[in-house]
Amino acid sequence: MTRVCVVTGANRGIGLEVARQLALAGDTVVLTARDPRKAEKAAAGLSGAVEPRQLDVSDPGSVESFAHELAHERVDVLVNNAAIHYDTWQRACSADLGVVQEALDTNLFGAWRLTQALLPLLRASGHGRVVNVSSEIGSLASMGAGTPAYAVSKVALNALTKMLAAELRGEGILVNAVCPGWVATDMGGLGGRPVAEGAKSVLWAADLPDGGPTGGFFRDGHALPW
Ligand code: NAP
Repeated sequence: MTRVCVVTGANRGIGLEVARQLALAGDTVVLTARDPRKAEKAAAGLSGAVEPRQLDVSDPGSVESFAHELAHERVDVLVNNAAIHYDTWQRACSADLGVVQEALDTNLFGAWRLTQALLPLLRASGHGRVVNVSSEIGSLASMGAGTPAYAVSKVALNALTKMLAAELRGEGILVNAVCPGWVATDMGGLGGRPVAEGAKSVLWAADLPDGGPTGGFFRDGHALPW
Protein backbone atom coordinates (compact mmCIF):
# COMPACT_ATOMS: atom_id res chain seq x y z
CA MET A 1 0.00 0.00 0.00
CA THR A 2 1.30 3.46 -0.86
CA ARG A 3 1.66 5.45 2.33
CA VAL A 4 0.91 9.14 2.67
CA CYS A 5 3.76 10.86 4.54
CA VAL A 6 3.86 14.47 5.75
CA VAL A 7 7.30 15.95 6.43
CA THR A 8 7.80 19.39 7.99
CA GLY A 9 10.75 21.66 7.22
CA ALA A 10 11.42 19.51 4.17
CA ASN A 11 12.92 22.14 1.88
CA ARG A 12 16.47 21.47 3.10
CA GLY A 13 18.61 19.43 5.46
CA ILE A 14 17.39 16.23 7.06
CA GLY A 15 13.74 16.90 6.18
CA LEU A 16 14.56 17.12 2.46
CA GLU A 17 16.57 13.89 2.60
CA VAL A 18 13.77 12.08 4.46
CA ALA A 19 11.27 13.30 1.84
CA ARG A 20 13.61 12.17 -0.96
CA GLN A 21 14.04 8.67 0.49
CA LEU A 22 10.35 8.17 1.29
CA ALA A 23 9.41 9.17 -2.27
CA LEU A 24 12.11 6.87 -3.71
CA ALA A 25 10.64 4.01 -1.68
CA GLY A 26 7.26 4.59 -3.35
CA ASP A 27 5.45 6.61 -0.68
CA THR A 28 3.40 9.71 -1.46
CA VAL A 29 5.20 12.60 0.23
CA VAL A 30 3.59 15.86 1.23
CA LEU A 31 6.72 18.03 1.27
CA THR A 32 6.07 21.06 3.42
CA ALA A 33 8.00 24.28 3.95
CA ARG A 34 7.11 27.62 5.46
CA ASP A 35 7.94 29.34 2.15
CA PRO A 36 5.76 27.85 -0.61
CA ARG A 37 8.35 28.64 -3.30
CA LYS A 38 10.95 26.65 -1.38
CA ALA A 39 8.51 23.74 -1.09
CA GLU A 40 7.91 23.80 -4.86
CA LYS A 41 11.61 24.07 -5.67
CA ALA A 42 12.52 21.19 -3.34
CA ALA A 43 9.71 18.98 -4.65
CA ALA A 44 10.73 19.67 -8.26
CA GLY A 45 14.17 18.25 -7.50
CA LEU A 46 12.83 14.91 -6.24
CA SER A 47 11.58 11.82 -8.07
CA GLY A 48 8.31 10.11 -7.24
CA ALA A 49 4.99 11.29 -5.85
CA VAL A 50 5.89 14.52 -4.06
CA GLU A 51 3.34 17.24 -3.31
CA PRO A 52 4.68 20.64 -2.22
CA ARG A 53 2.63 22.50 0.42
CA GLN A 54 3.07 25.65 2.48
CA LEU A 55 3.21 24.98 6.23
CA ASP A 56 4.62 27.17 8.98
CA VAL A 57 4.30 25.00 12.08
CA SER A 58 4.67 28.00 14.39
CA ASP A 59 1.57 29.63 12.87
CA PRO A 60 -1.72 28.12 14.11
CA GLY A 61 -3.56 29.54 11.07
CA SER A 62 -1.10 27.88 8.67
CA VAL A 63 -1.44 24.53 10.45
CA GLU A 64 -5.24 24.78 10.42
CA SER A 65 -5.36 25.64 6.69
CA PHE A 66 -2.89 22.88 5.87
CA ALA A 67 -4.90 20.22 7.69
CA HIS A 68 -8.15 21.52 6.20
CA GLU A 69 -6.85 21.59 2.63
CA LEU A 70 -5.01 18.26 2.68
CA ALA A 71 -6.73 16.23 -0.01
CA HIS A 72 -5.80 12.83 1.42
CA GLU A 73 -8.23 10.74 3.44
CA ARG A 74 -5.49 9.47 5.71
CA VAL A 75 -1.95 10.25 6.83
CA ASP A 76 0.23 7.24 7.56
CA VAL A 77 3.42 9.00 8.62
CA LEU A 78 3.97 12.41 10.19
CA VAL A 79 7.58 13.55 10.52
CA ASN A 80 7.84 16.55 12.86
CA ASN A 81 11.24 17.67 11.64
CA ALA A 82 11.13 21.49 11.53
CA ALA A 83 13.23 23.18 14.20
CA ILE A 84 15.11 26.39 14.91
CA HIS A 85 17.54 28.05 17.30
CA TYR A 86 20.43 25.73 18.03
CA ASP A 87 21.56 28.51 20.37
CA THR A 88 25.21 27.70 21.03
CA TRP A 89 25.72 31.41 21.78
CA GLN A 90 23.47 31.36 24.88
CA ARG A 91 23.65 30.18 28.49
CA ALA A 92 20.58 29.53 30.65
CA CYS A 93 21.78 32.13 33.20
CA SER A 94 21.49 34.96 30.71
CA ALA A 95 19.36 33.55 27.88
CA ASP A 96 17.08 35.81 25.88
CA LEU A 97 13.73 34.34 26.82
CA GLY A 98 12.26 35.69 23.60
CA VAL A 99 14.58 33.30 21.75
CA VAL A 100 13.55 30.48 24.09
CA GLN A 101 9.90 31.29 23.39
CA GLU A 102 10.51 31.21 19.62
CA ALA A 103 12.27 27.85 19.92
CA LEU A 104 9.32 26.45 21.87
CA ASP A 105 6.82 27.88 19.36
CA THR A 106 8.40 25.90 16.52
CA ASN A 107 10.18 22.92 18.08
CA LEU A 108 7.51 22.01 20.65
CA PHE A 109 4.21 23.72 19.87
CA GLY A 110 4.73 23.30 16.12
CA ALA A 111 4.99 19.53 16.44
CA TRP A 112 2.20 19.46 19.02
CA ARG A 113 -0.35 21.51 17.10
CA LEU A 114 0.33 19.72 13.81
CA THR A 115 -0.02 16.30 15.44
CA GLN A 116 -3.32 17.39 16.97
CA ALA A 117 -4.53 18.78 13.64
CA LEU A 118 -3.63 15.60 11.73
CA LEU A 119 -4.83 13.12 14.36
CA PRO A 120 -8.11 12.33 12.58
CA LEU A 121 -6.12 11.46 9.44
CA LEU A 122 -3.52 9.48 11.42
CA ARG A 123 -6.35 7.57 13.06
CA ALA A 124 -7.87 6.92 9.63
CA SER A 125 -4.61 5.24 8.61
CA GLY A 126 -4.94 2.50 11.19
CA HIS A 127 -1.11 2.29 11.16
CA GLY A 128 -0.12 5.87 11.98
CA ARG A 129 3.49 6.71 12.74
CA VAL A 130 4.58 10.00 14.33
CA VAL A 131 8.31 10.69 14.30
CA ASN A 132 9.43 13.61 16.42
CA VAL A 133 12.90 14.64 15.32
CA SER A 134 14.60 15.42 18.61
CA SER A 135 18.22 15.54 19.73
CA GLU A 136 20.33 13.90 22.41
CA ILE A 137 20.87 17.49 23.58
CA GLY A 138 17.34 17.06 25.00
CA SER A 139 18.39 14.08 27.12
CA LEU A 140 18.08 14.88 30.84
CA ALA A 141 20.46 12.01 31.56
CA SER A 142 23.36 13.99 30.07
CA MET A 143 21.98 17.54 30.46
CA GLY A 144 24.63 20.18 31.03
CA ALA A 145 25.19 23.86 30.34
CA GLY A 146 24.42 25.68 27.12
CA THR A 147 22.03 25.77 24.12
CA PRO A 148 19.17 26.51 26.56
CA ALA A 149 16.41 27.36 24.07
CA TYR A 150 17.10 24.35 21.89
CA ALA A 151 17.74 21.91 24.77
CA VAL A 152 14.59 22.85 26.69
CA SER A 153 12.50 22.62 23.53
CA LYS A 154 13.80 19.11 22.82
CA VAL A 155 13.30 17.95 26.44
CA ALA A 156 9.69 19.11 26.11
CA LEU A 157 9.32 17.42 22.72
CA ASN A 158 10.55 14.18 24.30
CA ALA A 159 7.98 14.51 27.10
CA LEU A 160 5.26 15.14 24.52
CA THR A 161 6.40 12.03 22.65
CA LYS A 162 5.89 9.84 25.71
CA MET A 163 2.47 11.32 26.47
CA LEU A 164 1.16 11.02 22.93
CA ALA A 165 2.50 7.48 22.67
CA ALA A 166 0.72 6.47 25.87
CA GLU A 167 -2.54 8.07 24.76
CA LEU A 168 -2.45 6.61 21.23
CA ARG A 169 -1.00 3.19 21.97
CA GLY A 170 -4.40 1.51 21.75
CA GLU A 171 -5.13 3.00 18.32
CA GLY A 172 -2.20 1.53 16.40
CA ILE A 173 -0.37 4.86 16.24
CA LEU A 174 3.31 4.62 17.17
CA VAL A 175 4.94 7.84 18.43
CA ASN A 176 8.70 8.00 18.87
CA ALA A 177 11.45 10.60 19.27
CA VAL A 178 14.66 10.16 17.31
CA CYS A 179 18.06 11.82 17.34
CA PRO A 180 19.67 11.83 13.90
CA GLY A 181 23.15 12.33 15.37
CA TRP A 182 25.36 15.26 14.47
CA VAL A 183 24.52 15.90 10.82
CA ALA A 184 26.16 18.25 8.31
CA THR A 185 23.28 20.64 7.58
CA ASP A 186 22.77 24.38 7.93
CA MET A 187 21.92 23.73 11.59
CA GLY A 188 24.64 21.14 12.29
CA GLY A 189 27.43 22.88 10.38
CA LEU A 190 30.46 21.24 8.82
CA GLY A 191 31.91 17.96 10.04
CA GLY A 192 28.77 16.01 10.92
CA ARG A 193 27.38 12.85 9.32
CA PRO A 194 26.08 13.04 5.76
CA VAL A 195 22.35 13.81 5.65
CA ALA A 196 21.56 10.34 4.29
CA GLU A 197 22.99 8.82 7.45
CA GLY A 198 21.13 11.27 9.70
CA ALA A 199 17.87 10.54 7.87
CA LYS A 200 18.21 6.82 8.62
CA SER A 201 17.04 7.20 12.24
CA VAL A 202 13.95 9.08 11.07
CA LEU A 203 13.13 6.53 8.37
CA TRP A 204 13.62 3.68 10.84
CA ALA A 205 10.89 5.11 13.07
CA ALA A 206 8.63 5.89 10.09
CA ASP A 207 8.93 2.30 8.86
CA LEU A 208 8.26 0.51 12.17
CA PRO A 209 5.94 -2.47 11.80
CA ASP A 210 2.64 -2.75 13.67
CA GLY A 211 3.39 -3.71 17.26
CA GLY A 212 6.78 -1.97 17.07
CA PRO A 213 8.13 0.25 19.84
CA THR A 214 6.28 3.39 20.86
CA GLY A 215 7.09 6.14 23.35
CA GLY A 216 10.83 5.64 22.88
CA PHE A 217 13.88 7.76 22.10
CA PHE A 218 16.19 6.28 19.48
CA ARG A 219 19.22 6.92 17.32
CA ASP A 220 20.22 4.48 14.59
CA GLY A 221 17.50 2.15 15.86
CA HIS A 222 19.03 1.94 19.36
CA ALA A 223 17.41 3.35 22.52
CA LEU A 224 18.87 6.54 24.00
CA PRO A 225 18.61 7.48 27.69
CA TRP A 226 15.92 10.09 28.41
P1 NAP B 1 18.12 22.81 9.08
O1 NAP B 1 19.01 22.43 7.96
O2 NAP B 1 18.33 24.09 9.80
O3 NAP B 1 16.60 22.74 8.54
C1 NAP B 1 15.56 23.12 9.38
C2 NAP B 1 14.28 23.10 8.57
O4 NAP B 1 13.20 23.51 9.44
C3 NAP B 1 14.29 24.09 7.40
O5 NAP B 1 13.61 23.50 6.31
C4 NAP B 1 13.49 25.27 7.93
O6 NAP B 1 12.85 26.04 6.94
C5 NAP B 1 12.46 24.49 8.76
N1 NAP B 1 11.70 25.35 9.65
C6 NAP B 1 12.16 26.18 10.62
N2 NAP B 1 11.14 26.80 11.22
C7 NAP B 1 10.00 26.34 10.64
C8 NAP B 1 8.62 26.60 10.82
N3 NAP B 1 8.18 27.48 11.73
N4 NAP B 1 7.73 25.92 10.05
C9 NAP B 1 8.15 25.04 9.12
N5 NAP B 1 9.45 24.77 8.88
C10 NAP B 1 10.36 25.43 9.63
O7 NAP B 1 18.15 21.70 10.22
P2 NAP B 1 18.44 20.10 10.17
O8 NAP B 1 19.81 19.90 10.66
O9 NAP B 1 18.01 19.54 8.88
O10 NAP B 1 17.49 19.64 11.36
C11 NAP B 1 16.32 18.86 11.15
C12 NAP B 1 15.91 18.28 12.49
O11 NAP B 1 16.98 17.49 13.03
C13 NAP B 1 15.61 19.36 13.54
O12 NAP B 1 14.52 18.94 14.32
C14 NAP B 1 16.88 19.38 14.37
O13 NAP B 1 16.65 19.84 15.68
C15 NAP B 1 17.26 17.90 14.35
N6 NAP B 1 18.66 17.64 14.68
C16 NAP B 1 19.64 18.06 13.84
C17 NAP B 1 20.97 17.77 14.17
C18 NAP B 1 22.11 18.19 13.29
O14 NAP B 1 23.28 17.95 13.66
N7 NAP B 1 21.88 18.78 12.12
C19 NAP B 1 21.28 17.06 15.35
C20 NAP B 1 20.23 16.65 16.17
C21 NAP B 1 18.92 16.93 15.81
P3 NAP B 1 13.49 27.41 6.32
O15 NAP B 1 14.37 26.98 5.19
O16 NAP B 1 12.29 28.18 5.90
O17 NAP B 1 14.26 28.07 7.42
